Amino acid sequence: APRVGVLALQGDFREHLRVLTSLGADAVSVRRPEEIADIDGLVIPGGESSVMDKLSRAFGLAEPLRAAIADGLPVYGTCAGLIMLADGVLDAIAGQQTLGGLSISVRRNAFGNQLDSFETDLAVPVLGDPPVHAVFIRAPVVESVGDGVTVLAHLDDGRVVAVESQNLLGTAFHPEVTGDVRFHEYFLDKVRASR
Ligand code: GLN
Repeated sequence: APRVGVLALQGDFREHLRVLTSLGADAVSVRRPEEIADIDGLVIPGGESSVMDKLSRAFGLAEPLRAAIADGLPVYGTCAGLIMLADGVLDAIAGQQTLGGLSISVRRNAFGNQLDSFETDLAVPVLGDPPVHAVFIRAPVVESVGDGVTVLAHLDDGRVVAVESQNLLGTAFHPEVTGDVRFHEYFLDKVRASR
């Protein structure tokens, strides 16, 4: 079984561990730099990207993760995890850094206060029918997409909320809380293909 890490510094990492385990992956928490060498793929969960950034630097994880991403490690980021994978962040906290790797810029908390959290059905052509029931919680959106990045889903108003680029996958929403495991399966296919 592929060994898939979940960055477990902060946020809803337990839900991802549960989904990955249910799909037959050997899912493990990642909190220390040494643990990165042992994994075939990594999920970065939702939470608060500015806190995840601070903790990943404080625990010496940021540099080895950047190196692993540059080396082709498959990584799936959801919500705050998508922000961590973005090369650029709009409305970041002062001094906030990301791991980067995805040639996109994202806007944090893009839905503002009125529409902080919402759910909608999203067409995701690579996953087929039915549409994905997507849960957005203080979510970012992808504001611009660079070379090599494929848009996997957008809202009715055109705003981009799921992307991939080679080994990297990102969603602005939280498939780990809905019981629809197709995004995790799609990611595990990437992990198996790159092993
Ligand atoms: N608003 C959070 C951030 O900026 C993301 C929210 C989430 O992960 N559900 O990191």
